[in-house]
Amino acid sequence: MWEYAPAPESRDIANLKPSYRLFVDGEFVEGAGEPLKTINPATEEVLAEVSTADKNDVDRAVKAARRAYDRVWGKMPGAERAKYIYRIARMMAERSRELAVLESLDNGKPIKEARDVDIPTASAHFFYHAGWADKLGYAGLGPDPKPLGVAGQVIPWNFPLLMAAWKIAPALACGNTVVLKPAETTPLTALVLAEIIQQAELPPGVVNILPGAGDVGAELTNHAGVDKVAFTGSTDVGKLIQRSLAGSGKKLTLELGGKAANVVFDDAPLDQAVEGIVNGIFFNQGHVCCAGSRLLVQESVADEFLEKLHARITTLRIGDPLDKNTDVGAINSREQLTRITELVATGEEEGAEKWVSPCPLPDKGFFFAPTVFAGVSQAMRIAREEIFGPVLSVLTFRTPDEAVAKANNTPYGLSAGIWTDKGSRILWMANQLRAGVVWANTFNRFDPTAPFGGYQESGFGREGGRAGLEAYLDV
Ligand code: NDP
Repeated sequence: MWEYAPAPESRDIANLKPSYRLFVDGEFVEGAGEPLKTINPATEEVLAEVSTADKNDVDRAVKAARRAYDRVWGKMPGAERAKYIYRIARMMAERSRELAVLESLDNGKPIKEARDVDIPTASAHFFYHAGWADKLGYAGLGPDPKPLGVAGQVIPWNFPLLMAAWKIAPALACGNTVVLKPAETTPLTALVLAEIIQQAELPPGVVNILPGAGDVGAELTNHAGVDKVAFTGSTDVGKLIQRSLAGSGKKLTLELGGKAANVVFDDAPLDQAVEGIVNGIFFNQGHVCCAGSRLLVQESVADEFLEKLHARITTLRIGDPLDKNTDVGAINSREQLTRITELVATGEEEGAEKWVSPCPLPDKGFFFAPTVFAGVSQAMRIAREEIFGPVLSVLTFRTPDEAVAKANNTPYGLSAGIWTDKGSRILWMANQLRAGVVWANTFNRFDPTAPFGGYQESGFGREGGRAGLEAYLDV
């Protein structure tokens, strides 16, 4: 095993400020809510104090968004809107290094992921949707589709800036205005995005950003002035929102949890599949709604495959997220660490065989060693519930039919992976699997042109691609 010298990225690049404020009607303003302290989950140090919204701030932001919609944005020609959206995309790309370091500090994710995936993909979402703004009449959604009005958007902590981009870019391209609530534990990059939006001279009120806890999210989604709600987060909160919006006439999209099956057949290139399985579950500490958290491996190669998998996982480096060599960073919060620890304990109690990577863990911060459970049966909680951490459950199968039955035996349906040498089997499996996204011989590939979304308890509606525009248009 190689010993790597530390290669930390400088935290000065983040331009961290001691305090951050709400962004309402084009201005940074003090909120009347209880300020929150956002921490670095890798060290538990306070990064900054962030002002939060109360009920009146939500009301002010929604009214600002309505004014901006009625007076400017809703009637602006698409080609003009596109100029602003392109400008945001470019400015994000220009500040990508700063955003990557800030994201890594606030979220705990490895710098190489923030740098190579989160920030470029976030900027790409703005570029992609800017291109649609003047072509909506050609999207197959009618000759002159109209925007909905004010979008209330609530996002989680696992991809803070990327989720903000997924939500804001299509809303703006379609002519809507936005009030967005970032997650309580990761508000910083959304507020730097607000700075970019201000510098891009977007008309005041077109985008408003309100940090705060779940109560701010509830206030926003229930506000009578909101026409469309877009939520990404847990299935429980998604259900709550759906219940409270019933009969309100608001349009709703929900992107919720997942328990994806990653299915490895005996004819798969096993070393390549090992890489894909590792990326599928340990990318972003497993804090990924579409994570490949259930490995289904064909029985004839299961022992060989597990051996290769353990050997590969042993080489993953866990630690300082700002170190460019780090593969697995910190768990985002103490709360999430507790949830992972509890679910892992149920796996052991229910009789699954636990294997833990022998990697050293830092003394401080919220870390969890990559863990693999073998001998998992369908009834166990670790096979059914979203752990949202670096924990893989391994099940086996003998025939393709059994693989399909087991893969689909979940209340979720967000994503799935297939590893095989046979193209015909890929097509057959992809047709059988009840998942919004199916990857073949790869995993966790994100692209703004590809629609993303789920079935069943994974939610409804699509984000990205042409299909994603529909959620922000009156069609
Ligand atoms: P939540 O669903 O609670 O959080 C998502 C967002 O919703 C956050 O901004 C949150 O605010 C906000 N929120 C909370 N309550 C409400 C409400 N009543 N109305 C409107 N908005 C609300 O997820 P958690 O962060 O609590 O994570 C819990 C579990 O959810 C994880 O362990 C994981 O299994 C799953 N999860 C799934 C995600 C996915 O992408 N599929 C993403 C995140 C979590 P606040 O930040 O203050 O909590």
